[in-house]
Amino acid sequence: MIELHQLTKRYGEKLAVQDLTFQVPRGVVTGFLGPNGAGKSTTMRMILDLDRPTSGRVVLDGKRYGQLQEPLKYIGALLEAKAVHPGRTAYDHLLWLAQSNRIPRRRVDEMLELVGLTSVARGRARGFSLGMGQRLGIASALLGDPEILMFDEPVNGLDPEGILWIRNLMKRLAAEGRTVFVSSHLMSEMALTADHLVVIGRGRLLADLPMAEFIRQNSRSAVRIRTPQVEQLLDALRGAGLRPQPGPDGAYEVEDGDLAALGDLAAKHGITLHELSPQQASLEEAFMQMTADSVEYHAGDGPSRASSPTRGEPPTESASAWGEGWQPKRKGN
Ligand code: ADP
Ligand code: MG
Repeated sequence: MIELHQLTKRYGEKLAVQDLTFQVPRGVVTGFLGPNGAGKSTTMRMILDLDRPTSGRVVLDGKRYGQLQEPLKYIGALLEAKAVHPGRTAYDHLLWLAQSNRIPRRRVDEMLELVGLTSVARGRARGFSLGMGQRLGIASALLGDPEILMFDEPVNGLDPEGILWIRNLMKRLAAEGRTVFVSSHLMSEMALTADHLVVIGRGRLLADLPMAEFIRQNSRSAVRIRTPQVEQLLDALRGAGLRPQPGPDGAYEVEDGDLAALGDLAAKHGITLHELSPQQASLEEAFMQMTADSVEYHAGDGPSRASSPTRGEPPTESASAWGEGWQPKRKGN
């Protein structure tokens, strides 16, 4: 479990993270969602003790980071900025990490195999594509078999196969009873990965709730009906106590309408329907509404940090080598 207590980080005038208090439980994937610049990476760096909080504290399974003897055995992370020396090989990088944390050498080979890098393990990191770099980062994170795993925007720049592989990996790690904390600026990605959701904007906590609850709260549903007999339809709907709203292209929408009941109603009145379809508001819309006041730059406001991290990086690769080598094993709870 990761516990944040009133965590705050100030860079000069800028409050990057403000008074964040929440817990990341074990056994589930917790999504850390926020627009670019919201403070996700800063928070994760503070959890790893790479950045010192201005105030507040982080507790990892009851301990402060400084109390962890060989930290990689407790917490593993894939961060945005990869700290791999370009002249070093994947094998040497992992071996160096393993030796400095007294992790057996065989774990290096196992992790290379797991992430599908065995065949390029002796190649220097400077020749790695973005996807290979992500895989090496994941191998590093898993090296010490830690209880807590953190991934900062792990799917950025990956192709669909690589994204699916990472998503499944995170779910398996959580199913083993580990604490899995993953950030993204994409609601759609979180909805597919996370069981629990923590949303921040401008460094502040905006929501902390189960994903199912977020979906329930934010899924406005309506039924769209279209007919050539508009007057009869409106009479029938109003007669049934419903309040149809005009929608696009001559259709009408009934909020929270029941599809079957509306079809039956139309049939009973002999009304021909040209459309009867369920409508769902997207979760992306809900997320955008929630964070509308906390987006640093809107489109047209000039350059956004959003685009900078991926600039100049190699194109996505085919990730057919991502493999399915991970063998699930349950950690003691
Ligand atoms: P996110 O990961 O959610 O996109 P970050 O944690 O990277 O957000 O950044 C949060 C805010 O803190 C941004 O406004 C960013 O410009 C600022 N920031 C991050 N790191 C630094 C730093 N080292 N110095 C100054 N400002 C920073
Ligand atoms: Mg970030």
